[in-house]
Amino acid sequence: MKTRKLVMIPGPTPVTRSIQDQMGRETVAFGDPEFVKDFKGLLEDLKVLFKCSGEVFVIAGSGTMGMEMAIANTTKKGDNVLIVSHGFFGDRFIELCERKGLNVDILSSEWGKIVPVEKIREKLGEKKYAAMTVTHVDTSTGVCAPVAEIGKMMKEFPETIYIVDGVCATAAEPEYVDDMGIDILFTGSQKAFGVPPGLTMLWVNQKALDKRKSLGSIPEYFIDFEKWIPIMNDPSKYYATPAVNMVWALKESVRIIKEEGIENRYERHRKNAAAMQAALETLGFRILAEKGRRAVTLSNLVYPEGTDDAKFRGLLAEEGIMVAGGLGAYAGKMFRLGHMGNIDKHDLVSVIATIERAMYRAGMTVELGKGVGVLQQHLVK
Ligand code: PMP
Repeated sequence: MKTRKLVMIPGPTPVTRSIQDQMGRETVAFGDPEFVKDFKGLLEDLKVLFKCSGEVFVIAGSGTMGMEMAIANTTKKGDNVLIVSHGFFGDRFIELCERKGLNVDILSSEWGKIVPVEKIREKLGEKKYAAMTVTHVDTSTGVCAPVAEIGKMMKEFPETIYIVDGVCATAAEPEYVDDMGIDILFTGSQKAFGVPPGLTMLWVNQKALDKRKSLGSIPEYFIDFEKWIPIMNDPSKYYATPAVNMVWALKESVRIIKEEGIENRYERHRKNAAAMQAALETLGFRILAEKGRRAVTLSNLVYPEGTDDAKFRGLLAEEGIMVAGGLGAYAGKMFRLGHMGNIDKHDLVSVIATIERAMYRAGMTVELGKGVGVLQQHLVK
């Protein structure tokens, strides 16, 4: 019999049965009153859960579309943009902005560390920036940015739109749009929401909506806020066909979040991450992100010297767990393990036990059960 494969890459994450069932429902017309009501309710819930008094957009696309949408609606050719990068996904904004003819300044950290908030403040004081981007959790490094602290500092720079990439954070790392002074937060469906890939969600406050208005016509068509605002206010109207079943799937995910309680969800992620990271360190992996900056959504694990990455991940897949490889300079030297979304203690125990078996089969030094033991100690706390 084939071993069941658990998808533990940092997105897509495991999709629970009730969410899968929404994908399998008979598709209705987007103007169907039941669907319109569901869509409206979903948008309202997203505003409340993430404390956004502005607009919420739910549109077919992936996280990268959220990046592009945030930039396209708040900047024009020739504007200055500051990119705060903690890795590969922070860097993705560079080409995206350069292609739009924006003047890009970059503040990068060494992988595993953050750019100090004081450095960001200094840079912002040098000239007028139309927008600044910060990746809440950079999936390439597992580093979590201090978005609330940065938001507080941003009060000194009211002309700059503060854009937060929440693709690998939203619904797991605490995010309160209004309270944290975030102007645009965006994410994708496939990570901590536990929905298949295919939707982009954005939370946009009044300041960013006003900025969009002030730009007049923008070159982008599908991703224009102005085109979508009437639809988000009344989903029975048509602009471009909504992803009906994906919207239902996201609605089910939000129902699960409300049932758990969002604060409880944040706390579960925090506890699970601490348990997983302690177990993985016991097994001899080094966590790339420095202490105090570690994400709750994933762990980026540097191998002990001499580990064959392809062999290890191949054996791990055979044993039933899919993980992702390292990016950039860490390709071949690290693996990335997601532990976010709708997963439970069964999954965590299974993941650590499977990693132990793969290590054993790869000829790595491992005491079977040691990582599981440490994990269990945390889980019973
Ligand atoms: N930002 C971050 C932090 C990500 O992790 C990812 C995807 N891994 C993206 C943006 C891009 O999202 P997508 O692959 O859905 O386009």
